[in-house]
Amino acid sequence: MTLIILGQCHDENDEGAKTKEGRTERYLAHTINKACQAKLLDEGLLTLYQNKGNLYQRVDAINDLSQTMKVDLAVEVHMNSSPAQERKGFFLMCWHTSSTAMRVAKKIAGELRFMKREDLGLNLVDHARRWINSPKEYGSAPSLTWLEDIRCPSLIVEVAHLSNEKEAHWIERLENRILVGEAVARGIIEHYLEVSDAELPATSGTVT
Ligand SMILES: [Zn+2]
Repeated sequence: MTLIILGQCHDENDEGAKTKEGRTERYLAHTINKACQAKLLDEGLLTLYQNKGNLYQRVDAINDLSQTMKVDLAVEVHMNSSPAQERKGFFLMCWHTSSTAMRVAKKIAGELRFMKREDLGLNLVDHARRWINSPKEYGSAPSLTWLEDIRCPSLIVEVAHLSNEKEAHWIERLENRILVGEAVARGIIEHYLEVSDAELPATSGTVT
């Protein structure tokens, strides 16, 4: 059994980044998560998503769960904001370059290429560290605390910049958020299909 946790994006006290119209990152991520969860469940991957609790509750909840059962992967979808309004694109972050998370991140990145962003970065650990070390440039990033504190393979997918008007309009359309959620799910599914494929013997035994 594969257990995937989709973390919520921010909480009631911190709704995350905002579009000019006041749509919050938390609101926008919710439908992305629901679309992602539906597709993962369809493929038989047990997927938990709960849109409640604050950051520390959710870190603790995931860590508690991973003590009693194997949590294969925790993923959070976020959206970015930058004072530089032309900044655009998505990127993925994970903490351990050699882990499952990195392999899944690469699959998701491949699936998100339909958005044709040029500034996709996969050198994720460095990016995350830089972010933590220069909060003035990047702002505060509770999502990174989440990434750092969780004791199972975890990754964050930042899918758009809400400070970029074009991207904000794009992600405000429900059908585009469904596309993104399903692309994230496809990346995860591809990884676990490869894993289960590798677990089967390549040739069958004697047919009886
Ligand atoms: Zn966020």
